[in-house]
Amino acid sequence: MMEQFIEIKMANPDSLLFYRMGDFYELFFADAEIAARTLGITLTRRGKHMGEDIPMCGVPVHAADDYLQKLIAAGHRVAVCEQVEDPAEARKRGSKSVVRRDVIRLVTPGTLTEEKLLDPATSNHLAALGRVRGEGYALAWADMSTGDFRVAALGEGALAAEIARVDPRELVVADPLFHDPDLRPLFDVLGRVVNPQPASLFDSAAAADRIGRFFGVGALDGFGQFSRAELSAIAGVIAYVEKTQIEGRPPLERPRREENGAAMYIDAATRANLELLRTLSGSRDGSLLKSIDRTVTGGGARLLADRLTAPLTDPRAIAARQDSVAFFLDDPDFSGRLRALLKAAPDMPRALTRLALDRGGPRDLGAIRAGLVAAGEAAALLDEAILPGELEAARGALRSLPQALGDHLARALGEDLPLLKRDGGFVASGYHGELDEMRALRDQSRRVIAAMQADLIEETGIRSLKIRHNNVLGYYIEVTANHQGSLNGTPEAKARFIHRQTMASAMRFTTTELAELESRIANAAGRALEIELEIFAVLVAETVAAAEAIRAAAEALAVLDVSAALAVLAEAENWTRPKVDDSLAFDIAAGRHAVVEQALRRQAADPFVANDCDLSPETDGGDGAIWLLTGPNMGGKSTFLRQNALIAILAQMGAWVPAASAHVGVVDRLFSRVGASDDLARGRSTFMVEMVETAAILNQAGPRSLVILDEIGRGTATFDGLSIAWAALEFLHDKNRCRAIFATHFHEMNALTARLPRLHSVTVKVREWNGEVIFLHEVARGAADRSYGVQVARLAGLPEAVVERAREVLGKLEAGETASPAARLADDLPLFSAAVRVEKPAPKKDDALERAVADLLPDEMTPREALDALYRLKALV
Ligand code: ADP
Repeated sequence: MMEQFIEIKMANPDSLLFYRMGDFYELFFADAEIAARTLGITLTRRGKHMGEDIPMCGVPVHAADDYLQKLIAAGHRVAVCEQVEDPAEARKRGSKSVVRRDVIRLVTPGTLTEEKLLDPATSNHLAALGRVRGEGYALAWADMSTGDFRVAALGEGALAAEIARVDPRELVVADPLFHDPDLRPLFDVLGRVVNPQPASLFDSAAAADRIGRFFGVGALDGFGQFSRAELSAIAGVIAYVEKTQIEGRPPLERPRREENGAAMYIDAATRANLELLRTLSGSRDGSLLKSIDRTVTGGGARLLADRLTAPLTDPRAIAARQDSVAFFLDDPDFSGRLRALLKAAPDMPRALTRLALDRGGPRDLGAIRAGLVAAGEAAALLDEAILPGELEAARGALRSLPQALGDHLARALGEDLPLLKRDGGFVASGYHGELDEMRALRDQSRRVIAAMQADLIEETGIRSLKIRHNNVLGYYIEVTANHQGSLNGTPEAKARFIHRQTMASAMRFTTTELAELESRIANAAGRALEIELEIFAVLVAETVAAAEAIRAAAEALAVLDVSAALAVLAEAENWTRPKVDDSLAFDIAAGRHAVVEQALRRQAADPFVANDCDLSPETDGGDGAIWLLTGPNMGGKSTFLRQNALIAILAQMGAWVPAASAHVGVVDRLFSRVGASDDLARGRSTFMVEMVETAAILNQAGPRSLVILDEIGRGTATFDGLSIAWAALEFLHDKNRCRAIFATHFHEMNALTARLPRLHSVTVKVREWNGEVIFLHEVARGAADRSYGVQVARLAGLPEAVVERAREVLGKLEAGETASPAARLADDLPLFSAAVRVEKPAPKKDDALERAVADLLPDEMTPREALDALYRLKALV
């Protein structure tokens, strides 16, 4: 057996091997040590290998999912090795033969299907990266649990952003890519998610064949045109699915191409900083998604997350989604009825996948049955209404479900469904004649046994006599030890009651009659189960054949759920429908931060203070504006920056937004540089990260972009920092020409408003009262003149002596400030000429030249005279 184990283990070196022995999966050697540590189960020893004890541990098969979940969460992959022949077969080959075993499946984070291993509200993406030299990268990703399968070509530099959007649980890449030094930094960030695989899986030349085989089509013409990099990525996903599922073939959809530019580009840092799906510390609580999710189904929650991560850029498509939300807002009663109905709708796609992979049970069929019923009821409900386009399409998908399948499941399945098909009892009575007969026979026989027991008690006078059943003996008659004489005392009795077993306190017997009855019961039960399993297989086949329609219906239910949920959110939170168009407007009246507002309410703190933000162009055809935001720490600057970025995202995903009114000209790219996301693990200082992110923004932002920058240049010495912030703002204004909010604690930068026409100063207001600061969280036109850093430090509980001393030092510094070079930066001159003046001694004045220039009257001169004057001046130098 150890030989067999080692052979299988050698073929699966990267996975922990779950080796099936009876009712347990056993792990050996290093696998056992890892599993025992991770799972907190006992490590034992069994036998010896090369003179050493073999460490071993095991998990019961029936609870394997729980253990798998922990191992997967800890980053392991598991190879499940089952017995693939009947032990009787093995015995035929010889008494020492070991039952044949094979790995039937690799369990990896990106290929999960079990309900227990999946979060209902989260997609579980497996992604593959394709690269073809000279053509570029493509990313394909599938959610094996639902069948969703998509692919996108990646523009230059969009690799990290796209991977961050897809947020894969597992990213497979070809070995050569894995070892490419250019990609190292990216893969380092992704860590264990990246899984290197042989390059042959991604071979673009063989890809078309592989894909065609998987989908059972000869040519890919019907799939649309794919580039070679896209084919390579798609093939990577399929090859990995085949490798992990072995014989099983999940019902993946045909890959859909996502067009470049259809979604707002949001880079990885911005996604993380804005805490869209999870906070910077990794929790879902506190994320934007969590605060806006009012969906009632898993599919709806997944679609909402999908929309949030990919806001649209086409105003018409956005308006179509908005119309769906408006429809539900108009009729809360209708929306309530629909949501009640949706609540009862189970997760059809995930059940479907399990059924297709032969991992499903009667409850998965039950889920499809209930889902089809809900879909039918939803369609009927929708028939009452005049629907906007998106919902009309959803009704269409619900209507095209195969009626026959629903009817069949309704007739065939019983009410209380067991988890496992081998437990039987899931087929409804009245559905299958022979099955009913067998069940009757089985149940009748059970009554016969009860009668037999009563007769025997009567006959023998032993009141405690029992007829019982266990898996070893089958049915047997049991009497306590003190009564045994009555059953084997006489030769006649001995002939009739055949002794089976002697226990400490009891004796067990059987009779010919009982044995006969037993075999009748066993036969009937066995035959009944056989019939049930046949019916199960038929139902599964019918269900899987309808996969496409079922998935389309599930998608339609998800659309209904998301639209109704966004309406509920808008109503409850008092949000407004934004106007989204092709302009460059960004005009938010009384905007709020969705997450902070709800958090403040939960804490019963002072309510959130709403703030306007208007970055719209001042002239027709002009560029958008930039707001320069100053004010003390804790004043609400970051909150204001983020709330406006979040409003842009919400508006373009088709949701209502937290504002009194909002007009958003489509944002094609959103950039942010907020917070200090330390990246020390990668050996970069905070300052370095800040500069890398800033560089990315200045290199990529265009006139349609929205940029929010928080405290650039904080991570270095004051002059360095101010210089960089200054130059970056000039560049944003003159070169990127985008809409932006730029928060800084360098008040000096307000001077730039005199020179940059689209730049406006705003500040978060504070009130001073008895030497304390009160934050009003109000953003108003104007510039802050002080930082209140000392006051904030005091609020934070710095020792009073330190606060006092700081006040003193500050006083001195401020008194001397006018003489300092920094003060001169407040001049409305560009930074670099200011620097020249600071660093170089002033040139000696040439009085004659100065006087000659002062005497010139340009307005009075003809061009000829001006030229003469120039020659004269030149002669003076
Ligand atoms: P800054 O970036 O200026 O240091 P923050 O944006 O981090 O300030 O805000 C500091 C705190 O003030 C936050 O924790 C938040 O609870 C509160 N706050 C910010 N903006 C508002 C607002 N508009 N209304 C109410 N409270 C706010």
